[in-house]
Amino acid sequence: MRPVVTTCSYCGVGCTLEVRTLRGRIVKVTSPPDAPANRGNLCVKGRFGHDYVTSPDRLTRPLVRRGDRRTGRLEPASWEEALDLVARRLASVRERYGPGAVAGFSSAKCTNEENYLFQKFLRAVIGTHNVDHCARLCHASSVVAMNLALGATAMTNSIGEIRDHADVILVTGSNTSENHPIVALEMKAAVARGARLILIDPREIELARFATVWLRQRPGTDVAVLSGLAHVIIRDGLWNREFVERFTEGFEELAAAVAHYTPQVVEALSGVPARDVEEAARLYATSPAAAIFWGMGISQHTTGTDNALALVNLALLCGQLGRPGTGLNPLRGQNNVQGAGDMGALPHVLPGYVPVTDAEGRRRFEALWGVRLPEAPGLTATEVTEAACDGRVRALYVMGENPALTDANLNHVRHCLEQLEFLVVQDIFLTETAAMADVVLPAWSWAEKDGTFTSTERRVQRVRRFLDPPGEARADWDILSDLARRLGSDWRYDSAEAIFEEIRRAVPAYAGITYARIEERGLQWPCPAEDHPGTPYLFAGGLPRGRGRFHPVGYLDPAELPDDEFPLILITGRVLYHWHGGVISRRSAGLNEIYPEALVELHPDDAARLGVHDGQMVRVRSRRGEVTAAARVTERSRPGSVFLTFHFAEAAANLLTNDALDPRARIPEFKVAAVAVEAV
Ligand code: SF4
Repeated sequence: MRPVVTTCSYCGVGCTLEVRTLRGRIVKVTSPPDAPANRGNLCVKGRFGHDYVTSPDRLTRPLVRRGDRRTGRLEPASWEEALDLVARRLASVRERYGPGAVAGFSSAKCTNEENYLFQKFLRAVIGTHNVDHCARLCHASSVVAMNLALGATAMTNSIGEIRDHADVILVTGSNTSENHPIVALEMKAAVARGARLILIDPREIELARFATVWLRQRPGTDVAVLSGLAHVIIRDGLWNREFVERFTEGFEELAAAVAHYTPQVVEALSGVPARDVEEAARLYATSPAAAIFWGMGISQHTTGTDNALALVNLALLCGQLGRPGTGLNPLRGQNNVQGAGDMGALPHVLPGYVPVTDAEGRRRFEALWGVRLPEAPGLTATEVTEAACDGRVRALYVMGENPALTDANLNHVRHCLEQLEFLVVQDIFLTETAAMADVVLPAWSWAEKDGTFTSTERRVQRVRRFLDPPGEARADWDILSDLARRLGSDWRYDSAEAIFEEIRRAVPAYAGITYARIEERGLQWPCPAEDHPGTPYLFAGGLPRGRGRFHPVGYLDPAELPDDEFPLILITGRVLYHWHGGVISRRSAGLNEIYPEALVELHPDDAARLGVHDGQMVRVRSRRGEVTAAARVTERSRPGSVFLTFHFAEAAANLLTNDALDPRARIPEFKVAAVAVEAV
């Protein structure tokens, strides 16, 4: 049986899969030993978690709500009726309220080709930049920070460099073993070779066992800890003078800003012992090659941009950029979240990160698409929710996202979605958001389509069809093209590759990538010409703007702190066996059997005080909602904090989370909410 070679549909590591099928079902998944990111290794999700594609829950026919929006039922309809209705309702909202009353959420689960077409549909067919995707909820703040300081927003280096080149690995706000297991494997291999690991994390995650030094800070005190590292590096003259003078600006402001953050001040603010701050600073600054990796523990804060800027400051200070084994590496969560951003599924940039406010850039896309584009940026996903509530947005088109489960402060989000005049959801399952829709369009899964994903290390890789789609489901790009024609645009794409050829013309970093070139192995952008080998690490020839800019930042409290009524801090996150909103991993029989329910992690001291024992059902309350789930009493959680995943709709952590936003990135503070826990 010859396997089909494709790319994993779960996380952003982008592991290469060899999939074998029998009678329409997946029977074996392996990986070739020379796979670029994963060297033949796969985690449990990649190897055993793809049976969701043949789940009996798959959507197979369009659904249309008959009767009233709140009480009417979703019933099967023909494609003709469903698409006619969508086109008519979108056109009607646009006519009555203007194009800005329509918004769309694209999907990091979909291919580059689908993301490109989705944002083009909103911009060129509807006439609005109101398009966003789940990066708003994960790394929006990292992107803002890296753009401000460096003029580049992606992971700078490659996964393979961890094992082969890094001498020091600084991991913060990333439970890498559970969320990017193959990256964690590479980190552990590097430690086995002699590399040192600095871990900054409030939870006792698996990597703590491999760390030379573990800084266990109070949640939300990241700026203080990272400023403490910069303080020690400057105080002890460990910074890279040559790099700072040649490639940076703003050093004096940074030095002034971190002067206050002595290790003793940091200890008082964060709970991290001063000696550990000293040791971590020395390790990072004196390493020949030190790489920084981070995840949502850094980005999902009201200070998310400041947190990421503090990391960029460290790398600039020590010149840990532009060489193998160094760099700034935000680990992207979903399989194609890097690609969705590259394709312009963001309200402020066109494909290739061309600002919508840049007149020349806009003109280039106007010529390519044959339309006039609006000059002002659109609304972010979090702003769309508010705009739905106050009537500025009347119609929402959601492709493969599930805001009714994954956004912060769900009771409010669901109330806002109910205020829409029209909601259309395109997905493979009847998600919580789809269940609220007026029209549901059944789409192909990853197993049924061709296209490309771009992994966290900027590697553009092929996705290949190996199963027939169920029932009447159609490809996302085909549905979008049909709708565009019904709304008067002459879209004539006949394959994913035809769309990719247009992407190559639109995005210079992708210009040299062709399906033929990535037949065997993906290519890392920037790849500007067909004879270019791709770019494993950025900044080898200097920084994009010539100089990187230090941004002084200062510690600010999270938006909500514990008090007498809500005395504990809730941290939300993910576990190895599930993925994001759980829509696909919970429909994988094996994964669901191993980890079937939400668990509330409590430290033994807190559990004893509350009279809660392991396995007991507890109620967790915040100012915004409450959930009930079983307690897991464990020292993994820091005393005073509680951990809950957001994979389980029946104990939806986002009923509790705080929707206070980072002012620049508009990302909610998923990582700090004040809660109370009680036995039930
Ligand atoms: Fe898939 Fe990520 Fe696991 Fe690799 S590490 S197999 S990409 S889920």
